[in-house]
Amino acid sequence: MSDEKIQVIIIGAGLAGSAAAYRLAKAGKEVMLVEKGSAAGSKNVSGGRLYTYALEKLMPGEWSDAPLERKINRELMMLMTAEDSLTIDSTFSSTESDSYSVLRSSFDSWLADKAEEAGAMVIPGTTVENLIVRNGKVCGIKTEEEELESDIVIDAEGVNALAAERAGLTNKLSPSDAAVGLKYVFQLPEEKINDRFNVESGQGVAMLAAGACTRGVNGGGAFLYTNRDSISIGLVADTVSLKNSGVKIVDLSNEFIQHPSLSRYIEGGKLVEYSAHLIPEGGFHAVSKNKLYAPGFLIAGDAAGLVVNRGFTVRGMDYAIISGIHAADTAIEAIDANDFSEQKLSAYAGRLQGVVMKDLKTLDKSHDYITHTKYMFKTYPALATGVMKNLYTAKDEPLKGAMKTIMQTVKGQKVSLFGAAKDAFKGGRSL
Ligand SMILES: Cc1cc2nc3c(=O)[nH]c(=O)nc-3n(C[C@H](O)[C@H](O)[C@H](O)COP(=O)(O)OP(=O)(O)OC[C@H]3O[C@@H](n4cnc5c(N)ncnc54)[C@H](O)[C@@H]3O)c2cc1C
Repeated sequence: MSDEKIQVIIIGAGLAGSAAAYRLAKAGKEVMLVEKGSAAGSKNVSGGRLYTYALEKLMPGEWSDAPLERKINRELMMLMTAEDSLTIDSTFSSTESDSYSVLRSSFDSWLADKAEEAGAMVIPGTTVENLIVRNGKVCGIKTEEEELESDIVIDAEGVNALAAERAGLTNKLSPSDAAVGLKYVFQLPEEKINDRFNVESGQGVAMLAAGACTRGVNGGGAFLYTNRDSISIGLVADTVSLKNSGVKIVDLSNEFIQHPSLSRYIEGGKLVEYSAHLIPEGGFHAVSKNKLYAPGFLIAGDAAGLVVNRGFTVRGMDYAIISGIHAADTAIEAIDANDFSEQKLSAYAGRLQGVVMKDLKTLDKSHDYITHTKYMFKTYPALATGVMKNLYTAKDEPLKGAMKTIMQTVKGQKVSLFGAAKDAFKGGRSL
C-alpha cells in the first residue's frame, strides 16, 4: 500500500462497507475500511432476516462458515387487538430463496474478518467526520486525528450519512422518509425455543405482527425472529405517524413486549441486547432525491436509502450487500481506467438497476400506502379477529350464517365493506 494515497477508503464496516471491502480486496485493490464502533457490528441493529442470495453473489460457495442462526421455514403473520389475535401460520418444506436469522454483532464481525483476510485494512474505533473535497472531487476522509487521501471514497456509514451530508453530497434524511426501529434480544435455551415454536434445531421462525402491538400506529408493526439460543423481538413505526398519534416510543417499547400474544414467547428469557435505530424507509422517491455518485465518491446501503418497508417486512441487509458489490465493481473499473470522474462512476447507477432499484421502483407506493391507509393498523386487525371470534362463538340463540356474522362485525367496526375492499385492492398493488 502506498504511503500517501490509498486507492479506496470505505466509511463504515456494516454489510455494505464490508461487502465492498471484500470485493475490492479480492480484486487486489488497496482498500481501507474505517469503522467508528470498537468492532464491526458493535453498533448495528437489525431485525435479523438475511436473504442469502446476496452472500452467494458476494462470495460464491464460500460462506458456509457464516454465523447464520436458523434457517427460516415457518412464517407467522399476526393481527392483534389488546386482547385477541389472529395468526396465519405458514410452513414451507422448501422455498426458492433461503433466508436465515442473523445477529449483527457476530455476522458483521465475520464479514469484516473476511474482508481483512482478503487483504483489506480494517480500522475500528475511528469516526470519519468529513470528506476531503478538492475542485469538486472527493479526495479522502477527515477523522478526529488525521486526513487520509484516496482515489475513491465509498460511503457506507448507514442511515445517518453525516460525512456525505457535511460535504454537501447528500440531503439530511427527512422525518417523512424515516421509521424508527427498536430491538430486544432475549436469551433462552435452544430446546425451549424449539418447544415454544414447534421447530427443530436449525429451523427458524419469522413472525410479523400488526395492530395493538404498536397501538395501531400507521406504518407500525412488530417482528420476532428465532435465533439459535435467543429471540430477536422488536417493533418498527413510521416516525411521522408516531408523532401524529401522540404515542411515545418509550411507552410503546415498554408495553409491547408485555403484550400477551408476544410475551409468552420470550417469557423467562434474559435480556442481552436493547437498541434503537432509524430506518430509511422512504423508498424509490426518497432515493431519487440524492445522487448515488459524484467525482471520487459512491454511496451504498442505508446511507443511500436502499431499504424497502412493505409493512410486513423490512429489507435492507441484502440490498446493502448487493450495493456494496456494485460500488466495489464500479471502483475497480475506475481504478483500472485511472478515471474517477462523475461520468465514469455513473456506471454504479446502471449496475443498481437490477434487483435493488427495480425492487424499490416496484414498491414505490408501499411507503405511502402503509403510512396513509387509515384503518390498516387498528380497525382491520380488530375486524379480522372479531370476525374469527364471532364465527367460533356458540350461544343459547339461533346461529347466524357466516356472511351475516361478517357483515355484523364490519358494521361494529364502522367501516364500509367497499372501503375495505378498496384498501385491499390498493394494498395488493402497492405491496
Ligand atoms: C429494527 C430494525 C430491523 C430491521 N430488520 C431487517 C431485517 O430483518 N432484514 C433486513 O434485510 N433488513 C432489516 N433492517 C434494515 C437493515 O438493518 C439495514 O438496511 C442494514 O443494516 C444496512 O446496512 P449498511 O451496511 O448500509 O448500514 P449499517 O448496518 O448501519 O452499517 C453502517 C456502519 O457504519 C458505521 N459508521 C457510521 N458512521 C460512521 C462514521 N462517521 N465513521 C466510521 N464509521 C461509521 C456504523 O458504526 C456501522 O457499522 C432492519 C433495521 C432495523 C433498525
